[in-house]
Amino acid sequence: MPELPEVEVSRLGITPHLQGQKISKVIVRQRQLRWWVPDEVLDLAGQTIQSIERRAKYLLLHTEKGAVIIHLGMSGNLRVLPHATPPAKHDHVDLLLANGQMLRYHDPRRFGAWLWQAPDEVHQALSQLGPEPLEDEFNSVYLLEKAKSRKTAIKVFLMTNAVVVGVGNIYANESLFMAGIDPRRAAGTLTSDEATRLVDIIKQVLRRAIAQGGTTLKDFQQTDGKPGYFAQELLVYGKKGEPCPSCNTELKEVKLGQRATTYCPQCQK
Ligand SMILES: [Zn+2]
Repeated sequence: MPELPEVEVSRLGITPHLQGQKISKVIVRQRQLRWWVPDEVLDLAGQTIQSIERRAKYLLLHTEKGAVIIHLGMSGNLRVLPHATPPAKHDHVDLLLANGQMLRYHDPRRFGAWLWQAPDEVHQALSQLGPEPLEDEFNSVYLLEKAKSRKTAIKVFLMTNAVVVGVGNIYANESLFMAGIDPRRAAGTLTSDEATRLVDIIKQVLRRAIAQGGTTLKDFQQTDGKPGYFAQELLVYGKKGEPCPSCNTELKEVKLGQRATTYCPQCQK
């Protein structure tokens, strides 16, 4: 599933091809994605894409009339291709540009979405989101305040969009391991030192993933492969039963909020 770094890399990848370009036609082959593609999206011919913004895991293509909001869901991806490229199975949306290129959305599982936001409106999907993890607003003082007397497991807490956006399962696992914090602990038990460490590590881990993804940017113009996704160097995620990379103790797995959580019983307190 694309997480925040992949979505940011998608944004960086498509921006030079889309920004300032006029939309000549919109082709929607399948309107039933996670939600029904609204009429406004179909009616974008003649509009110019002014900018491409990311909020959490949503991409916003801003035009004069409003913004298209794209979510990649579980299996969505975006590519920039010439108009003549024949559509393959699961190529649900094409945004044709006047310069002969198009933005093509491919999504086998159809958990992704194309939504619409009118000017001066905040779409419901974006209205309850916490701060961006890479912004200064996400800091240890903020995290401690949010965590105060919360009994939720710290890992589930970090994955709550109202607390901070974009810390998905992989990055929550990895960050808690690097910070030496047991993912099962109540969020409210976080100390000031731990919060400082955790915030720094989350920012580092996400920045590194975005930087790694940057090396795959050329893939956005290829017609095959999986653009925007990249192999991540992971320390503990998905490595149950393997030795801890730090102390060699066998890594354990537990379900928290229905999500697999890998941790080292020795290193994480
Ligand atoms: Zn260990």
